[in-house]
Amino acid sequence: MLLPHGGELVNRVVPERERAKVLEEAKSYPSLVVDTDALLDIENIAVGVFSPLKGFMTHEELLSVAYHMSLPGGVVWSLPVLLQLREKPEVDGRVALKDTSGRIKAIVDVKEVYRIDLPLIAKLVWGTESEEHPGVKLFYSKGEWAVGGDVWLLEKVEFPFRDWILTPEETRKIFEYRGWKTVVGFQTRNAPHRAHEYLQRIGLEVADGLFVNPVLGWRKSDDFDPLTVLEAYEYLINSYYPKNRVLLSGLATAMRYAGPREAVFHAIVRKNFGCTHFIVGRDHAGVGDFYDPYEAHRIFDRLPEDIGIEIIKVSAVFYCRSCDCIASEKSCGHEENQRVYVSMTKIRNMLREGKFPPEEMIRRDVAELLIKRRTKSLTNVHS
Ligand SMILES: [Zn+2]
Repeated sequence: MLLPHGGELVNRVVPERERAKVLEEAKSYPSLVVDTDALLDIENIAVGVFSPLKGFMTHEELLSVAYHMSLPGGVVWSLPVLLQLREKPEVDGRVALKDTSGRIKAIVDVKEVYRIDLPLIAKLVWGTESEEHPGVKLFYSKGEWAVGGDVWLLEKVEFPFRDWILTPEETRKIFEYRGWKTVVGFQTRNAPHRAHEYLQRIGLEVADGLFVNPVLGWRKSDDFDPLTVLEAYEYLINSYYPKNRVLLSGLATAMRYAGPREAVFHAIVRKNFGCTHFIVGRDHAGVGDFYDPYEAHRIFDRLPEDIGIEIIKVSAVFYCRSCDCIASEKSCGHEENQRVYVSMTKIRNMLREGKFPPEEMIRRDVAELLIKRRTKSLTNVHS
């Protein structure tokens, strides 16, 4: 099986038998209240999703990642993983991290408290200082102070999609049990549409297994809610794919919308889950017009070292009227006016009105499920 990024799977979960004692000690430490995004990232660090990270980045690590796309030791890493705070915390040594209800969830061994040059990091990582960018806006809103240091997880944060999340240790065991030597990772934050289905089928052609891994953390408000995405995928997999060749599990981290750099981050994370391949489509993790749609492909050629997971680069996918099938820029020779591109905005708007989007974009039965779910969530709001 493919080694995790950096060579070994990080485990920073306090063992069950020591938990009560460690928790008791932690009550005497100074404490900080942190938000759910931070607690989810602690969990991702602790169970090895973010291997080789053992904690939140120090200033040196942040600058190394921002400028060179690698950790100080040379291992490729493309996005900041920070414990950000709005006010300067007066802390040192061991610090207890609490959720907003005051429960101790984790411990951080503080190496450093520092101020982040927010616009500089935004420019380097997201390519823009603009708050029009949802990822940059979120980054700014978290605050300009940061605590760097290794973490220990005591208790997982309450999270509504817990049952849908597997750890890298678990996915690796499943891949092994199913005899998958090669596994293609697929990132999404959307309900399944025909273009993504095309990419997933490419994955099923080239590898033993497909790992569909939707992002369940924070996303901009016009994206689909995570449960809808999961249920729609469960339906698609059960109705159309060979079940024993596909595994569905959620990724509990925020979307950063950092385009090319997030494509690298997404690939590394899937490597940690045990994937040997990762699909990067057009404008991966992009938003608006902030990124050249194929920069997310080119960035892999510029990395300081090989990241050890094969990237399947796929160009724009659409329905072609002349071909009468889903095709891509690489497989269809027809004019632009023959091509119907999937528009999630259009799909969402039509679903909102209870209308069926064109079947070239989304399967009718999947759309039906999405309309039903929408009605259900509306009923819940009103009752
Ligand atoms: Zn065509």
